[in-house]
Amino acid sequence: MKNEKAVVVFSGGQDSTTCLFWAIKNFAEVEAVTFHYNQRHSAEIDCAKNIASTLGIKHHILDMSLLNQLAPNALTRNEIEIEENKSGGLPSTFVPGRNLLFLSFAGVLAYQIGARHIITGVCETDFSGYPDCRDSFIKALNVSLNLSMDKSFVIHTPLMWLNKAETWELADELDAFDFIRENTLTCYNGIMADGCGECPACKLRRKGLEEYLNVRRDL
Ligand SMILES: [Zn+2]
Repeated sequence: MKNEKAVVVFSGGQDSTTCLFWAIKNFAEVEAVTFHYNQRHSAEIDCAKNIASTLGIKHHILDMSLLNQLAPNALTRNEIEIEENKSGGLPSTFVPGRNLLFLSFAGVLAYQIGARHIITGVCETDFSGYPDCRDSFIKALNVSLNLSMDKSFVIHTPLMWLNKAETWELADELDAFDFIRENTLTCYNGIMADGCGECPACKLRRKGLEEYLNVRRDL
């Protein structure tokens, strides 16, 4: 893979930044793509821009605002509360079809820039309940992309079977632990690094971090 080109689906959060470091280690040439769809906080876009420029990565920002027309939810509308789980179903942060659309557009971009590899930070382990984060969906989409463009793209999901603590461990192995802890934004309230500490995203991130730090202390 070393001499090939890759595109990373990149939001500026912990997971996709870990994937960006993973891609830099594994591919000769890496570009990042961020989708702009009126995220709750434009801080997310700024954060992604800063990371890409710090790492010297070519960064594409694509306008996906049409998603707001289709999917009013807690990530795209400020007036909707973030809830972890609506009556046992999908969380209020679920945007139907988001990864289907994002990965399809990443595929089109990959075609145009001559990249064979597409990297995404989706994860089936840390349960979020999003169906388009599952391994079976990613594999099916990989086949569809290849058939639709007559290419042999490979979608990589380095985090698919990792829990949050193991994602921190991977960051550490990639010598990116401090960088990711300090420069990424996961918080639903738009606060960088360790975040607000109160929202579901912060709680999940902190729990994984504490677990990993406990493991590291024991080494
Ligand atoms: Zn938060």
